[in-house]
Amino acid sequence: MNYIFPKIKTRETNPIEISIQLEKLVNKLFVAEELTKEEYLYILDNITLDDANYLFKKGYQKKQRYYENKVFLRGLIEISNFCKMGCKYCGINYKIKTIPRYRLTKDEIVDCCEEGYLLGYRTFVIQGGEDSYYTDDLLVEMLQEIKEKFPDTRVTLSLGERTKESYQKLYDAGADRYLLRHETASRRLYEHIHADFMSFDNRRECLTNLKEIGYQVGAGLMVGSPTQTNADLVEDLVYLKELGPHMVGIGPYLCHSDTELAGNMSGTLPETLVMVALVRLILPKSLLPATTALGSLDPIGREKALDVGANVMMPNISPTENREKYEIYQNKICTDDTSDQCRNCIEGRINRVEHVVDLGVGDYIDFERKLSW
Ligand code: SAM
Repeated sequence: MNYIFPKIKTRETNPIEISIQLEKLVNKLFVAEELTKEEYLYILDNITLDDANYLFKKGYQKKQRYYENKVFLRGLIEISNFCKMGCKYCGINYKIKTIPRYRLTKDEIVDCCEEGYLLGYRTFVIQGGEDSYYTDDLLVEMLQEIKEKFPDTRVTLSLGERTKESYQKLYDAGADRYLLRHETASRRLYEHIHADFMSFDNRRECLTNLKEIGYQVGAGLMVGSPTQTNADLVEDLVYLKELGPHMVGIGPYLCHSDTELAGNMSGTLPETLVMVALVRLILPKSLLPATTALGSLDPIGREKALDVGANVMMPNISPTENREKYEIYQNKICTDDTSDQCRNCIEGRINRVEHVVDLGVGDYIDFERKLSW
């Protein structure tokens, strides 16, 4: 159970004065790019499905200003479903016995990049569970090989919490970006949905370290996690403004029946879209993916995200035979498709909502890499 967006859940309508007040706050946020905690809370406590349409329009308008209707594509490679962490919501955490485990070798990862490169992708996102098989030395070799073969690309890593020294080595070897969702900025909620041995403070420290090193950094959160409240979401908005990440992954929590959190309600599409639109207004230049989780929740969830402020999509270029095993949540889309089917499908979806694919590297606006390598 979660306690967010009460008026969206009950499909209430607002008296006109409340709708006017909500519009005023959205307009203020559009200009000031920040609100007080009380103002954020007012929006989350009062917004209805009808009021959300105004926020969505403003999110779209803000995105247009910086990115027009371009959508950057990133080729996603899910390299391993071994994980030593205990995220209670995640279907590949170390306790799960129901999935066969797999990992890709360095050569297999480079082969995926090659296939992705031929399909036109110029960013590879290398994501996986926290798998100690991927030592710094192995990843350094992998990064050097990718950068040597495909010098006109960017590499994004998403391999969880590592030491600052490790992040530095990987950056020096050519990694450009790092995705590490903070998951929630509420200590109470973080501790509720993670194993005791995991640390809220360490997750945040990792994000600070990544920024200090010079990565383009992606934070992010799940919407609708069990016991989440609007006050927790306010913490997310405040934290994101403070951290100033270049990317923010926002997806619904999707309940997985083999996890400790089985039986909980999942997050919903409108709730997630409200958070995407708010983050677009708070961090106007950010790269915001229309997440696979949104596409798994609703057949046109990702397209709807593009219409409220998202500007990135991450089609899968992992070997098809492994995709089902990367089951972080159930009913994940695109598990049977080949990489070129995903490429065509995504472009069609983007065009149908009057957006266009941009196959450039898609850096954060104004971003300059600290070190040359
Ligand atoms: N291990 C890396 C990490 O922790 O950042 C990357 C892989 S992890 C599986 C990627 C993201 O999947 C997490 O940040 C989490 O937000 C999301 N995720 C995991 N289980 C989920 C679920 N049941 N519903 C929605 N998102 C989920």
